[in-house]
Amino acid sequence: VKSIGVLTSGGDAPGMNAAIRAVTRAAIFNGMRVFGIYRGYKGLISNEIEEFKTNSVSNIIQKGGTILKTARCEEFMTEAGRKTAYENMQRHGIDALVVIGGDGSLTGAGVFANEYNIPIVGLPGTIDNDLNGTDTTIGYDTALNTIMESMDKIRDTATSHERLFFVEVMGRNCGYLALNSAIASGAEAAIIPEISIEKDQLAELINQGFRKSKSSSMVLVTESEVTGGAMNLAERVKKEYPQYDVRVSILGHLQRGGSPTAQDRILASRMGVAAIQALLENQRNVMIGIRENEIDYVPFKRAIKKDREISPELLEVLKISSI
Ligand code: ADP
Repeated sequence: VKSIGVLTSGGDAPGMNAAIRAVTRAAIFNGMRVFGIYRGYKGLISNEIEEFKTNSVSNIIQKGGTILKTARCEEFMTEAGRKTAYENMQRHGIDALVVIGGDGSLTGAGVFANEYNIPIVGLPGTIDNDLNGTDTTIGYDTALNTIMESMDKIRDTATSHERLFFVEVMGRNCGYLALNSAIASGAEAAIIPEISIEKDQLAELINQGFRKSKSSSMVLVTESEVTGGAMNLAERVKKEYPQYDVRVSILGHLQRGGSPTAQDRILASRMGVAAIQALLENQRNVMIGIRENEIDYVPFKRAIKKDREISPELLEVLKISSI
């Protein structure tokens, strides 16, 4: 591999810049040329590609978002779109890619890599922590901290008014963000997609008399079709339990922003360097994962498999610590 392209794709996450920086510098350190590709697969198709030097990535490690911008790209889902993308790679002499993104982006990377026999290494860039084969993802720790800070503020007002708050957080089909935020902020419960039916979770919560001895309660809810979202749950409680003073807070996109935590910067830097190492070792179609603090190579197929289990130990910790 003599020349690589790096792009960020799909939902953005804090720490993506730290990853771009590490990938760029590790590639140059190993004598490769590096091309920054803007707006994910969209820029690969529209040829928004620029050569990066070491100083192209100066002063970005502390910044949220992604200097390369990110996008979703319908065209990359088509053979014609991917053909144009491949032609643009050839035009610049790019012979491998590092793709930083979530499960959609890595799914696309797998399709593209197989079609054109291109070495691609993925980095898990998502606040959702929903990829298999890695304990954590770039952006997850920052998002957890952002949610925790928001929860501390909500707690103040919830306590003053003795209210029950449903707080909706991101995570799609994955409850880790809600569950660990609940533990970190001392919330009473987390309603998450892994536990099948929202109705049961809510009913169980109420039956446990979770509010009896408390002046306020906070329940984290994963934004997902399975949970129905915080708004729906609150409506149900209002109807069925009119004695509760219920409020909803949807944290929304603020969860995606902010300066990355030390942990995310270090993770992104390690994974960025590992991505280039993987290419030097002729690895392809793998995502860089981290397991028990060691770098691991995870085949795309396994990384994107949607069967990540929620930790029973964490569920137990939340249950016990919120009595
Ligand atoms: P994320 O990476 O955050 O999960 P998305 O699911 O929106 O974000 O995926 C980002 C992009 O990856 C899509 O807009 C599309 O360009 C590409 N992609 C996703 N799935 C596929 C697929 N099956 N084939 C080709 N490209 C895909």
